[in-house]
Amino acid sequence: MIDIHTHLHPPRLFAAIRRWFVENSDWKLTQPTEPGEVAQGLRSHGVKQFVFCSYAHKPAMAEELNAWLAQTARSLDGFGLPLATVHPDDENVDGYYEKALSAGCIGLKIHEDVQKINIDDPRLEAVHALTAERGGFVLVHVGAIPFSDNTNNGPGRIASVLARHPRLNVVIAHLGVPDTLAYLDLTEKFDNLYLDTTMALSSRSPLRASLDPMRLVPYARRILFGSDYPNLPHPYEEEVSAVQALPLSDGEKRLIFEENAAKLLKL
Ligand SMILES: [Zn+2]
Repeated sequence: MIDIHTHLHPPRLFAAIRRWFVENSDWKLTQPTEPGEVAQGLRSHGVKQFVFCSYAHKPAMAEELNAWLAQTARSLDGFGLPLATVHPDDENVDGYYEKALSAGCIGLKIHEDVQKINIDDPRLEAVHALTAERGGFVLVHVGAIPFSDNTNNGPGRIASVLARHPRLNVVIAHLGVPDTLAYLDLTEKFDNLYLDTTMALSSRSPLRASLDPMRLVPYARRILFGSDYPNLPHPYEEEVSAVQALPLSDGEKRLIFEENAAKLLKL
């Protein structure tokens, strides 16, 4: 099994994120945060490779964060693969992003809400071009779910980026809730568009998709398993069993749990 969406942050940032959830949500986050313990937790659930990310919520922090992400990946001996972060207000975004890719990052994470940016920001054009050129991918949390259901036409932003960068691999986090059906439609037009299952299917999740799971059936090749571990307010097993419960064949579930990600990560 491959988990395409997990989080590792430097200790002080992780402590601040946990504090934010205590003060601003009713999420009870109890899973470990230290990278070795997070990796061990994932291994114990049968994960054999995972992708992890952090995010620069303000300018002038991404370059240092990327160095930490690459170093943390090295300390995990290839078990965890890092996504870089950028902030469009920074000078030299293109330069430090290229450096992050050279240091081992395999693409980019964008969290539109936390970073207060849009994926189609013109200042990110060269970054998207470079991700496409290197065969990486961008994992994007579109809009401000679960705190607002209004994504201001998130699928429109994704379509405009893909129209300009047709070779860019894009993974929409959280099944693109609440715009899942619009993204599924877009996969017909764009061969490099994927959705991850992170927190969108398990019954107790605050991000649960309200769609008929039958709608996902034709799209098993475009769906990747993800969890948000260790920042999810319910047990990891519930993320797994929710995907197991989809009305799909064993072969289709293998695509979601492993084979689609292996192809994307070129494993
Ligand atoms: Zn996440």
